[in-house]
Amino acid sequence: MNEDQQDRTAPRELVIVSLYPRDMNIYGDRGNVLSLARRARLQGFEPRIVEINPGDPLPERIDIMVGGGGQDSGQGRVAIDLVDKRDRIRELAEDGTPMLMICGLYQLFGHRFVTYTGEELVGIGVLDVETRGDDTRMIGNIVLESDEFGEIIGYENHSGVTTLGPGSVPFGRVTQGAGNNPSDGVEGARTGNVIGSYLHGSLLPKNPAISDFLIARAAERRYGSFEPTAAATAGDRTVEQARASAKRRPR
Ligand code: GLN
Repeated sequence: MNEDQQDRTAPRELVIVSLYPRDMNIYGDRGNVLSLARRARLQGFEPRIVEINPGDPLPERIDIMVGGGGQDSGQGRVAIDLVDKRDRIRELAEDGTPMLMICGLYQLFGHRFVTYTGEELVGIGVLDVETRGDDTRMIGNIVLESDEFGEIIGYENHSGVTTLGPGSVPFGRVTQGAGNNPSDGVEGARTGNVIGSYLHGSLLPKNPAISDFLIARAAERRYGSFEPTAAATAGDRTVEQARASAKRRPR
């Protein structure tokens, strides 16, 4: 069958790599992968999820990469494997592949994470950030403001204190909670289409605009264009309810 004979209405595939789901899946971060796959379907694509754990080779085709958070011990297990995959991931990032890395993997997508006990975990430097473990934890519901995504809602729980270099811009400005560190008033990092953030929740079910960003960039890169469908943009009451309850401060 040549290209002209192919069924143009057949859903177009998007390969979503779920990075280290065994070690890096705290506070339900796997919900990001499930939510993204569902949203991709609503947007008219056929998602294929590929789970990559330490030792697994990356697939030849990758359209979106998503990774979660974990304890310092889990980060130690994946850090060595991640360095083996560094060149490929950097190439993909430079080529515009959208990625979302939460908490523990956000830290490892930076240059380094020095734990509270002084152990240095080398990162892959896709994001221009550095993290140091501190003796206090930043815990609670968090709200950000972003020019591109509007209000972003999530939950943070980390002791890592992250600072941004000039090669990354913040993911959002903090309006409630701590973010990268207690003093800068910003959260997360972004370089090109790669987003790093401390926001669990999971993040994507409560913030569909970020799923749409990942899907749109992936579709443009793979298929040359992206048009949102009416089904995806129709709105969802459960999303609004989840956002409202996630914004509540603990009493
Ligand atoms: N170990 C890291 C920290 O506490 C990451 C925590 C997480 O992924 N939730 O800073």
